[in-house]
Amino acid sequence: MSTDQTLYAPEDQIAETQSLLRDALGKYEPGRIAISFSGAEDVVLIDLVASMGLSAAVFSLDTGRLHAQTYEFIERVRKHYDISIELLSPNPKALGQLVKDKGLFSFYEDGHGECCGIRKIAPLRSKLGTLDAWITGQRRDQSVTRTDVPLRQVDTAFSTSEHSIEKYNPLANWSASQIWHYIRDFEVPYNALHDEGYTSIGCQPCTRATGPHQHERAGRWWWEEETQKECGLHHQNVISIKTLPN
Ligand code: SF4
Repeated sequence: MSTDQTLYAPEDQIAETQSLLRDALGKYEPGRIAISFSGAEDVVLIDLVASMGLSAAVFSLDTGRLHAQTYEFIERVRKHYDISIELLSPNPKALGQLVKDKGLFSFYEDGHGECCGIRKIAPLRSKLGTLDAWITGQRRDQSVTRTDVPLRQVDTAFSTSEHSIEKYNPLANWSASQIWHYIRDFEVPYNALHDEGYTSIGCQPCTRATGPHQHERAGRWWWEEETQKECGLHHQNVISIKTLPN
């Protein structure tokens, strides 16, 4: 593997990431820590865990509005690594009420907060209530809301006074180029939409392909302000961040 650090994830960076993953998975009981899976970075996490001969629980938010290619991607990852992927669905009553009151595209008129709240945040909150820690694929160079993402932190958005949740971001200091070189070098499965110009992929009605000079998350909620482009999964990026001591 090349040691050009602008393009490739050098071996010591891969080793550091594996070390953090090993520490995280060793710190918590199996089933009390899980990888949150949706994008290209998350499969790199799954691949790194598998490369160490370890295993981790994996969950994904099935909002009901994902592209067909994303469902195919989830299935391909499940088979490729021979793992279970828990799909989390929205509460049907809350979702039914939203659709009844506002239809299927209210986010274009009054913002993505309400729909994301029902389709993503509530299922995630419920899942995190059963965990002590989760692992995400957030990177600092993904957007203006992620420039300060630490390798690990207290999840202030989902912790409660009775239940503290730790959040690991092992790829925080990886660049997009390093992620993609890892994916190609190790033949990691990726979403076919990336070959159609999509750089960051969420729900179908809220994601579009990006141009060559646009930022990678520019195609997400493109009708909203850059500083608000978090769906609530990582809402502490928009509010305050509390970093754990090493
Ligand atoms: S990304 Fe769009 S469709 Fe998906 S949950 Fe958020 S607002 Fe709803």
